[in-house]
Amino acid sequence: MNTLLLPAHGQNTAEVAAQIIRNGGLVAIPTETVYGLGADGLNPEAVAKIFIAKGRPQDNPLILHVADPSQIEQLCHHIPDSAYALAKAFWPGPLTMVLPARACVPACTTAGLPTVAVRCPDNAVTRQIIALAGVPIAAPSANLSGKPSTTTAEHVLHDHDGKIDAVVDGGPCRVGVESTIVDLTEERPRLLRPGGITPEQLLAVLGDLVIDKAVTAQIDKDAVVKAPGMKYRHYAPECQVIIVSGSREQAAKYIRSHFAPGDRVLCFAEELALYTDCAPLAYGLEADASTLSAGLFAALRQLDDPSISRVFARCPVGGGIAYAVQNRLKKAAAFQIVDAEAEV
Ligand code: AMP
Ligand code: MG
Repeated sequence: MNTLLLPAHGQNTAEVAAQIIRNGGLVAIPTETVYGLGADGLNPEAVAKIFIAKGRPQDNPLILHVADPSQIEQLCHHIPDSAYALAKAFWPGPLTMVLPARACVPACTTAGLPTVAVRCPDNAVTRQIIALAGVPIAAPSANLSGKPSTTTAEHVLHDHDGKIDAVVDGGPCRVGVESTIVDLTEERPRLLRPGGITPEQLLAVLGDLVIDKAVTAQIDKDAVVKAPGMKYRHYAPECQVIIVSGSREQAAKYIRSHFAPGDRVLCFAEELALYTDCAPLAYGLEADASTLSAGLFAALRQLDDPSISRVFARCPVGGGIAYAVQNRLKKAAAFQIVDAEAEV
């Protein structure tokens, strides 16, 4: 199949993309978080194509993207006031809510769960495509399953050229990591995945938030969890990734003494000078964690190269968007973390 590359501002882009969605095809769509691989979320045959294209495990549910917050009432029931408060504060934006699913949402979209994840993305052409398609668009990140997520149209073509109907090119994604996911189906709101809306922002609206253990620890692959998908090794280049924590100086000491040919260093831009002979790659500024989230997946993709044996990675500390970067990097590293302060 010939994969169409549609510029976001092209005259007919939204109509062409919406038509493909209505016909049960696959369109990669830009959002502020990452590129999604989209299909009609209410059409089981179209949704099945997403799982096949990505090689995604069937027990990993999809997020439904809506054009307008009011659309969630067609997809969800027993919507608590907290959902409306969050939508008012953060939609359109990088926040996904898990709510009880109506019967119109097929089991393949929810992976058989009684709940469904919904989000209104902050991207004008994508919302226009959803509105014209007249259906919610199911869209997981457009990478092959397990690989680092796609933050440019080139990344999408690298993984899916010739296998999907179209890619809408909206340039690099602003946030760069997937949406924050909050489950509102229990007594207390629960953070299932950190992202562009920070725990601090959620707390300010909700007044309460439980952090799910899938956010902070490796989950056994056979475990039954609230956040299916979080148990898989994710976001990772082929090679081993080792996070080295500690001060700039101690980390450099540790990495430089363990560095071997074939290894790479993934660091902050401020640290490049410390690793001149260690093939460093900077993914953003430590002083501005939003540049780290925007640059992380492009860097991890660059490091997904069979000639690389190990990556020593530097990970930001603290809250805000840095919390989401930590989560993705720790998952890419399968939670392998060396404390340079204790080692040297
Ligand atoms: P992505 O593959 O980046 O689109 O992320 C989709 C993720 O959303 C899944 O891996 C789940 O962790 C989460 N998710 C989707 N639907 C649900 C749901 N009904 N309940 C809990 N988590 C969900
Ligand atoms: Mg994903």
